[in-house]
Amino acid sequence: MARPVARRLAVLAVSAAVLSVGAAPPSAGKTEAPVTADEKVPVAVGYGGAVASVDADASAAGIEVLRKGGNAVDAAVATAAALGVTEPYSAGIGGGGYFVYYDAKSRTVHTIDGRETAPLTADENLFVENGQAVPFAEAVSSGLSVGTPGTPATWDAALDKWGSERLGTLLKPAERLARDGFTVDATFRSQTASNETRFRYFPDTAELFLPGGRLPVVGSTFKNPDLARTYEELGRKGVGALYRGRLARDIVDTVQEPPVDPASGWKARSGDLSLKDLSAYRTKRQAPTKTSYRGLDVYGMAPSSSGGTTVGEALNILEGTDLSKASDVQYLHRFIEASRISFADRGRWVGDPAFEDVPTKELLSQKYADSRACLIKDDAVLTSPVAPGDPRDPAACGTGGTAAPTTYEGDSTTHLTAADKWGNVVSYTLTIEQTGGSGITVPGRGFILNNELTDFSFTPANPAVHDPNLPGPGKRPRSSMSPTIVLDEHGRPVVALGSPGGATIITTVLQTLTGFLDRGLPLVDAIAAPRASQRNQTTTELEPGLWNSPLKARLEAIGHGFRQNPEIGATTGVQRLPNGKWLAAAETVRRGGGSAMVVRPVP
Ligand code: GLU
Repeated sequence: MARPVARRLAVLAVSAAVLSVGAAPPSAGKTEAPVTADEKVPVAVGYGGAVASVDADASAAGIEVLRKGGNAVDAAVATAAALGVTEPYSAGIGGGGYFVYYDAKSRTVHTIDGRETAPLTADENLFVENGQAVPFAEAVSSGLSVGTPGTPATWDAALDKWGSERLGTLLKPAERLARDGFTVDATFRSQTASNETRFRYFPDTAELFLPGGRLPVVGSTFKNPDLARTYEELGRKGVGALYRGRLARDIVDTVQEPPVDPASGWKARSGDLSLKDLSAYRTKRQAPTKTSYRGLDVYGMAPSSSGGTTVGEALNILEGTDLSKASDVQYLHRFIEASRISFADRGRWVGDPAFEDVPTKELLSQKYADSRACLIKDDAVLTSPVAPGDPRDPAACGTGGTAAPTTYEGDSTTHLTAADKWGNVVSYTLTIEQTGGSGITVPGRGFILNNELTDFSFTPANPAVHDPNLPGPGKRPRSSMSPTIVLDEHGRPVVALGSPGGATIITTVLQTLTGFLDRGLPLVDAIAAPRASQRNQTTTELEPGLWNSPLKARLEAIGHGFRQNPEIGATTGVQRLPNGKWLAAAETVRRGGGSAMVVRPVP
């Protein structure tokens, strides 16, 4: 197979090497000023390792760890813990996530599935009452939606396997941030505002996030001493303290009897999470998904996330078209149609593999993708919902079974990417599901519990066919999180990236990857490019940059229909440059812009 991407990246590598002549050698840099959180820039280039996240304090926490000799895994944990402070509505120890790790020594990719699990007492009627699905909003702000948190266990597993520092040390920057406070920005205030009504249902949440009964003021300092204490405790005792003992008891009590203000009138259903659920929780180590794409290997998260299989299938579908030569309209048309088709398959086939027979390998086969790609026409648009195919029995241009719409998923979460001077890389997406999770704070502990279980189908998406994403005892709800690492033909990293955004994560990662790998965009531009998201729905979502562009009318002329979405995703990534140099990249504008940092910047 031709290797245009690999070749182009090789050229890029050479020019970067030439450009770096005269720059500081990797060993220099003792005299630089310390990294401060004020340096919120969307792109940074330099040596010693890199971190990109949505938040400057969080990136700085990771950089601090790298500077002191920690590795990418250490930095990722420190950054994630700091995000639990500054992005408490998107991430934290009350949630879960997926950790993808590239080990430079062995040139191999590994993953940790730290997804939340349903209570052991759950069955497929978890969200059904009197034969009816519980209204979604009622399920969200309730104990019913809270899964056993996987984030602390993920940190523990990652450090145990690949880390070099103690958890207690790595939690220190976040603990400090929680105790001393961080500066409230417009995003934090607006996320609080959009949750204000339901936060007031839960007095502990209101007390923490609506200090003095009001929205936090932009520019003010926000402190969370309860969380500082919780981090200190986890650092001292290990994460087992969250899964057994007093803290576990506090979590269980909170879920079983959500501390709701009776005057609010909110009916906060209780959940059945128990001490047994917490003590039984285990992360899973499993093989990453692997997709060959234009001579590169794209590694992602296997089910229970649908990220790896869906991004992978779409890439395989797109592989038949030279996207580097396509016009903007052709590129977007192909991208939209590939997304549509792979979402049809995702809905039908992907669920927690501990409970479902998921054809992961077959979904990722080129043969299957080719059989699906042949549905795409240059001058027409597929009608959604497109029916799924049968990956175990690919039929040319065939669809098998009945179509089903894609169900709703939240739109918050956060992604971080870290690399170290040894060449190790972490791509880590973590979440508490909705922005603000369940809205329920564990009293006195400083963190919000997730509502991840609402990622399950409440009732079958398609009553005619088995839905692999119905709740079950200890089952993981299907995710869309797509932390990704791309390696070249020598097994060396090219780029690592990921995004929040519920099911739009998949299309954002796909669009950013193709923007970078095929369309020749620098990573920060591929991230900044206006996004489209098609998830096997009648219309495709467009950000304003595309909505207001002439491309929209040209795509409509082929038959595309659109609706507007003001903002999709918040990507971060790192790119390996030659000679130990890294480029970190984040959003330029979305969510107020992200924060890219390297240990020793070069001009
Ligand atoms: N809960 C979603 C998932 O696992 C992520 C939510 C989000 O990104 O907002 O796919």
